[in-house]
Amino acid sequence: MQKNEPIRMCIACRVRQLQKELIRLQQNRGNISPYSGKGRSFYLCRICSQNEKKVKGLIKRFRLSTDDSERFVKYLKELDKNG
Ligand SMILES: [Zn+2]
Repeated sequence: MQKNEPIRMCIACRVRQLQKELIRLQQNRGNISPYSGKGRSFYLCRICSQNEKKVKGLIKRFRLSTDDSERFVKYLKELDKNG
């Protein structure tokens, strides 16, 4: 691991990892979406993104509506498929 590579923390399990290993997301009007380059972002590790319990916890934490949480879960599943 190179010393100057940015490290970020997963908001679900608080594990620190290289930024590039994490999934960058943002909350936009209640909905959680992939980071668009603007606004505040947060990170989720790959393990948490595939952990149903952790994902449900996030949905609660961000008070997502049913529609928004379905979209979020779908997005994470797509990520898994694409590797
Ligand atoms: Zn995590």
